[in-house]
This record gives sequence, C-alpha cells and structure tokens, in this order.
Amino acid sequence: MTPTPTTLSVPLLDLQAQYRAIRDEIHTAIGQVLESQHFILGPEVQALEREIAEYSQCRFGVGVSSGTDALLIALMALDIQPGDEVITTPYTFFATAGVIHRLGAKPVFVDIEPDTYNIDPALIEPAVTPKTKAIIPVHLYGQCAEMNPILDIARRHNLFVIEDAAQAIGAEYQGRRAGSMGTIGCFSFFPSKNLGGYGDGGMVVTQDESLAERLKMLRVHGSKPKYYHSLVGGNFRLDALQAAIVRVKLRHLDEWTAARQRNARTYDALFEEAGLAGTKIKLPAVKQNRHIFNQYVIQVENRDALMAHLKQNGIGTEIYYPVPMHLQKCFARLGYSGGSLPVSEHAANTTLALPIYPELTAEQQEMVVKRIAEW
Ligand SMILES: *Cc1c(COP(=O)(O)O)cnc(C)c1O
Repeated sequence: MTPTPTTLSVPLLDLQAQYRAIRDEIHTAIGQVLESQHFILGPEVQALEREIAEYSQCRFGVGVSSGTDALLIALMALDIQPGDEVITTPYTFFATAGVIHRLGAKPVFVDIEPDTYNIDPALIEPAVTPKTKAIIPVHLYGQCAEMNPILDIARRHNLFVIEDAAQAIGAEYQGRRAGSMGTIGCFSFFPSKNLGGYGDGGMVVTQDESLAERLKMLRVHGSKPKYYHSLVGGNFRLDALQAAIVRVKLRHLDEWTAARQRNARTYDALFEEAGLAGTKIKLPAVKQNRHIFNQYVIQVENRDALMAHLKQNGIGTEIYYPVPMHLQKCFARLGYSGGSLPVSEHAANTTLALPIYPELTAEQQEMVVKRIAEW
C-alpha cells in the first residue's frame, strides 16, 4: 500500500530498504564466514582487497578497521612526523584533519571552491612551506577534487597526495577512479557510505608495491614475521564478516550508483520546474564525469529555517558540515579566526543534504521539492 502524499515521510537514508533487497545474499555470505570460524583478515579480506583494488584502478588494496584508520595508516606509512605540515580542506568530516594532528603534524587548511565545495587548487601552492609533506584532497559528497593541478603541485614540491575517498568509491576524474591518482587512496565502509558494511571498516589502495607491504605491516602492529617488529603500527585490521558483507554489496554498487545519479537528475528537474533552481536554491554543480552522489547537497540562505520546516513535515536532512575544521575548538591553537576561510564558513552556514539513497521513489522526491517550494 502506498501512503497518501500528505503523510509520506522521507528519511535521509533508508538502510532497511537496501537490506531487504539483498537479505538472502548477505545471510549466505555471513553463514560462510561463521562456518569457517575465520574472523580476522583471511581469504574474505584478501578477496575484497583484490576486488576493491580492481574496481578503483589500483594495483593493491589493504583492508583496515575504518576510513579514519585508513587515513591514519596512510600517513604513518609515509612517515609523517611531528612538525610536518599537511595541507587539506577545512570543509570535511573531522577524521581528515584529526589524523594529521594525532601524528603530531600540523593541518594547514586552505579554502574550497564555492561550486563543488572541494579544496581550491589555486590556494594550495601559496600554502606550501619547507615543512609541507603531503596534500589530502577530499572527494566531497562523491565528486572528485580537481586533481590535475593538485598532482602538478605535488610533483613540483615533492609532496605525497593522500586521497580521502571515503565518500567517493567509484567516482571518476577524467576517467580515473577516486583513490588511484595520488600516492595512497582511502575508503570507508561506514554503513552510510555508498559501499557500507554492517559496522566499521575501510580500505587503503595504492599502485606502489612496497607501500602496500608497509601498510600491511603497520596494520598488524608493524610485525613481519609475526612477533618481530621493525615498525610500530597498531591493530588496524578489517574483519572477515565485514569483508564478506562488503563483497556482496560491491556486486550491487554500480546499479545503486546509477539510481543515485538518476535521483540527482530528478531533483534537478523538479527544482527547475518549481522555478527554484539557481535563484532560491543553488543545486549541486557536477564538474567531474562520474559523480556518485554520496550526498545531494543544496545551498540556501536561511538554511536552518528550511531544515526545521522539512523536519516538521517528516523529511530527513543533514548538515555536512556545520563547523569547518579551522574553527573547531580542538584546533584553536592553530590560530585561525572566523572569516579566515570565508567560502568554507559560508558553506557551513548554508548547505543542506537531501535524501538521495538509491531506493528513494519519485513520489518521495516530489514531496521533498513540494515542501521546499511551499516554504
Ligand atoms: C566517513 C568519512 C571518513 C571516516 O570514515 P570512518 O569509516 O567513519 O572512520 C573520513 N573522511 C571522510 C570525508 C568521510 O566522509
């Protein structure tokens, strides 16, 4: 039975709907792991590493415990040290900046492009100092950052590039997949990502065999062989149950991505029809050729009032992200003040993510746009 339009509620994300569609495949995969009683690393993790590497046009994949740990272990493998500087965007999830700080290095924030919300390549080179070791572009909302100029700057100054592709598995920049362009790419299998597990998980990808070996050692406390430690690593292992689940979901990822892209086009058309596009509502700018729409984010003045109105009407939305990194309390000692990175600050005050998950129906999308239009 379809609910009547006036009562139709639209969650930001509906993982139940996806689970119902793949339930049998998932249960079979979990059952096989339980029968094997092999829970840590092992054949399922190895198989997923090969599959994600291939999917992402990379030679090597290393399964890890989360997207955050993927970023941390990437910086550890590249020997980022106290006092080093790492240039990144302030408009991201906390993990991107947090891992830099945790190694004693200094995050250096440069502002973003106003249309894609990705790091502005033109601002990177002026921020390079003799202490700069790496750049971390984030492929925000599922669209790749402008990688060619970033890779050029890195080459000129001999810097590493770590792609934070937590939101962008399968996204492309000029035909090249997210994670394959820099020194190391990092993915997250957090449940709400496009390829989410049923718990925490992540993966690091690279084209460099010796780096892959180093990442594998760091994942098991730096040991090779077992109980002989030439490096200090940590427990950054991916478990077999998550790997088995993610392998099932990887088989569906392209159809889900296509559905997200279709939903994005539907929103674009509905906002056009309602006469809101470009005037009251700024729609997402699609600049790269494969945007995978982890989020569909609009920009609107008076955002908080719109968000409250939608909530009242049963429509889930979220702000990614309300406070840019340079203004987070924990980074106060870095000395940034309000107004120093104005594009990020404006985005933090005006962006709103709408439901875009693959199972979203056209009726639900019409309801979302109708509620925005009436507001
Ligand atoms: C989700 C996310 C992470 C962290 O991934 P976890 O698996 O939650 O640790 C890092 N960076 C970005 C941009 C993310 O969206």
